[in-house]
Amino acid sequence: MTNLYDLLKQNFPADRGQTVLETPDGLTMSYADLESGSGRIARLLTDKGVGPGDRVAAQIEKSPQAILLYLAVLRCGGVYLPLNTAYKGGEVAYFLEDAEPRVLVCDPAGEAALQEIAGKAGVGTVLTLGEDGQGSLIDLSQRLDPEAAVVSRDDDDLAAILYTSGTTGRSKGAMLSHKNLGANTLTLRDTWGFTADDVLIHALPVFHTHGLFVATHCVLLSGSRMLFLNRFDADTVLDLMPRATAMMGVPTFYTRLLASPRLTRDACAHMRLFVSGSAPLLPETFKEFESRTGHRILERYGMTETTMNTSNPLDGERIGGTVGFPLPGVEIRIADDDGRPLPQGEVGVLEVKGPNVFRGYWRQPEKTAAEFRQDGFFITGDVAMIDDRGYIHIVGRAKDLIISGGFNVYPKEVELCIDQIDGVQESAVIGVPHPDFGEAVVAVVKRQGGGPEVSADAIQSTAKAALANFKVPKKVFFVDDLPRNTMGKVQKNLLRDRFKDSFSSAA
Ligand code: AMP
Repeated sequence: MTNLYDLLKQNFPADRGQTVLETPDGLTMSYADLESGSGRIARLLTDKGVGPGDRVAAQIEKSPQAILLYLAVLRCGGVYLPLNTAYKGGEVAYFLEDAEPRVLVCDPAGEAALQEIAGKAGVGTVLTLGEDGQGSLIDLSQRLDPEAAVVSRDDDDLAAILYTSGTTGRSKGAMLSHKNLGANTLTLRDTWGFTADDVLIHALPVFHTHGLFVATHCVLLSGSRMLFLNRFDADTVLDLMPRATAMMGVPTFYTRLLASPRLTRDACAHMRLFVSGSAPLLPETFKEFESRTGHRILERYGMTETTMNTSNPLDGERIGGTVGFPLPGVEIRIADDDGRPLPQGEVGVLEVKGPNVFRGYWRQPEKTAAEFRQDGFFITGDVAMIDDRGYIHIVGRAKDLIISGGFNVYPKEVELCIDQIDGVQESAVIGVPHPDFGEAVVAVVKRQGGGPEVSADAIQSTAKAALANFKVPKKVFFVDDLPRNTMGKVQKNLLRDRFKDSFSSAA
């Protein structure tokens, strides 16, 4: 395989007049527009000195032109480096100093502040692109020749660096090659049955693997079309469903859809597939969605470093609370802390090997070496179990493991027990310092509106009846909402910090 752009292009429809992207306010972009727009931007980037292997950083709001920029970077042989729009100046400075991009593309509103940061980091050129698709990136490229050549690349050459979402510690740049991305998304296209007839609701951010690679590539590799929303909005999604066939989302999309009385079987009658990932989907959400719409959400599991690893089946039985089976070509094993495979049914760390697994962390050879086994398996840090039917269950993150009085507690098990109590919407179980036990199990609970208020006592006694004593939360705190990042992951680090003094003598 060569440049990923060539692979995508081979799968564009023969009739380039076909629509690839449509926004709710009526903008449409054809495959011809996609080719010419990305060609012009590729010319501009080349003029600005972007050559093979050079990084192009982008901290921009989602817009159709953001996709053109991504494709343009591929075309000129560069390495795309998308940054979460939530990052503040100090954080962006770290990424720029670490990755040393040749060009930074940012929102026009943030240009003045970022010019200074970029200058200090030695970034040669700052261009702008706003949510409205306007900015110097477009102005300067508009008159350039759309016929940019596609720079030849090898399988292992980098296509993108994505900084890990870093809910703990400093985020690291995951290096993804042309082959990593191409191989994985071809597999997904086929596993999920994408064809030119599909219309995908695309409401995910495009600085993350889910929206940028999984969703966008499935569309481009099947020559289909996407309904492109700058952000998720339940009403807009419900308006679009009669014209769509598929949606990819994080679990919060599904809970928000369920909160709308408009979500019915009829509303989803035209849809063939709902995919969820990036964070665990509650089994309750899976069940409720099925009973309201008749659709079983297809849950899959992946991460920035590996793109997608497992998926529930398209045709076989989809089981809530599981992430299905390894994707074709992906090897998965559950291992102990020394990398020794564990027998089926045991809980351990999930390790993965395959063409999807990244090339390592940018300029961090020691960290990279520490996270790979000798035989090439990557240690994901996710704790998992494979059941007797082969379905994989993600039990939690290794670093979320609670050790209370010497006993291991996997938060997920306690959360599942609490979440099925009437009056509980959802919970997060964390470990906090305890003078006696080292760590104590604490539950942070969001109550369900409507019915009678569930008490801490009721939660503790239900947990006591179902779980070993050391797993029962010693305290239960109620919150209005669990803190989540943009990808829907509960930020347990914030909860651990907030409740860290619960058992200190002053508390
Ligand atoms: P990110 O690198 O931001 O994509 O985050 C990857 C992490 O999200 C994984 O290592 C898992 O901890 C979590 N994750 C992704 N998909 C799922 C899923 N379906 N169920 C549970 N956790 C998931």
